[in-house]
Amino acid sequence: MANKCVECGKKAIISLTYGPHRFCNEHFLHFFEKRVRKTIRENKLVEGREKIVVAYSGGKDSAVTLFLLNKIFGKNNPIEALLIDEGIPKYRNKALAIAERNCKKWGIPFKRFYFKNEFDFTMVDVMRKTGAKKIIGSTCAYCGVLRRQIMNRQAREMKASKLATGHNLDDETQSVLMNVMDADLERFLRNGPKSEGAKEMIPRIKPLYHCPEKEIIAFAKITGIKYFEQKCCPFKWQAKRNDFRAMVEDFEAKYPGMMFSTVKFLKEVKEGMEKKTSRKKIVVCSKCGEPCSGKVCKACKMTERLKK
Ligand code: SF4
Ligand SMILES: [Zn+2]
Ligand SMILES: [Zn+2]
Repeated sequence: MANKCVECGKKAIISLTYGPHRFCNEHFLHFFEKRVRKTIRENKLVEGREKIVVAYSGGKDSAVTLFLLNKIFGKNNPIEALLIDEGIPKYRNKALAIAERNCKKWGIPFKRFYFKNEFDFTMVDVMRKTGAKKIIGSTCAYCGVLRRQIMNRQAREMKASKLATGHNLDDETQSVLMNVMDADLERFLRNGPKSEGAKEMIPRIKPLYHCPEKEIIAFAKITGIKYFEQKCCPFKWQAKRNDFRAMVEDFEAKYPGMMFSTVKFLKEVKEGMEKKTSRKKIVVCSKCGEPCSGKVCKACKMTERLKK
C-alpha cells in the first residue's frame, strides 16, 4: 500500500512526508488546489467581484498563483498581471518573456513596467552604487523596496482591489524565523496571508501561503506551466535569507511539518497580540504620496541616496 494513492489506489507519484499523504497526479492536483481555495476562503483573500492584479515575475510561484486565480475567479473577476522589469540583464528579460507568453496563452491582460522609466535607473546602476559604497546597503534591499513601490502604485492605477503575490510557505517560514531572531516584532506581525494598511495601499494577498515550494514545482510540472527556472539572479546577495532557506530546508527534512507549525504559531501570536501592540500607523510619504510609516518613505530615501 506504501506507493498507492490514498484516494484512488493508483500508483502514487508524490509522497508528502508531513501527512503522510500519497497521491497520483490527478489527486495531487486536486489536493493542491483545494488547499489554495481553503487559504483564500478562510482568510477572505478575495471577496465578491474584486479586481485582482497579480505581480508576475516569470518564476514558478507567481506563475502558479496567476494560473490558479484565473482558474478559480477568471469567469467572474477581472484579473490582470503586473510585470516589473528591474533591468537585470540575462535574467529578468528572459523570465518576463516567458511571463508574457503565458499571459497571452491564458488570455490574461498584462502591463510591464520598467525601473528605468519609473526611477530613471536600472538595477545595474543600483548595483554599481551599492558596490562602490558598501555602507548604503545590499542590492536586494533596494530592489525589493523599489519593486514594492511600483507594484503598489501601478496596481492602484490599474484599479486593483487586491494585489496577489506568489509568496509560499517556505518564504513565509524564513521570514517569520528571521524576524524572531532579529527581535523585529513590527515586521513579524506584518507577516501573514493578507496585509492591509492605509487606503493608498492595495491590500496584498498570498494565495500560496500554505503551499511548500516543492509542491508548487510539482504542480507546475504536472500542469505543464512553463516558468523561468533559473533560481538565482546574478545580483543575489541575500546572504542572510539564503542561510535561513538552508536551515528551513534542513529542519523540514528532519522534522516534517515544522513549516506549517511556524505559520500556525504566527497566527496564534498575531491573534493574541495584535490588539495589545501599538503598531506604527501607516501614513503617506510627504514626497511621493505612497503609504509609509514615517514622514518620507523608504523608496524616496533610497532614490535620493542613489542620486548623490
Ligand atoms: S535577488 Fe535581489 S537583486 Fe535579484 S531580483 Fe531578487 S531582490 Fe532583486
Ligand atoms: Zn489518485
Ligand atoms: Zn516616498
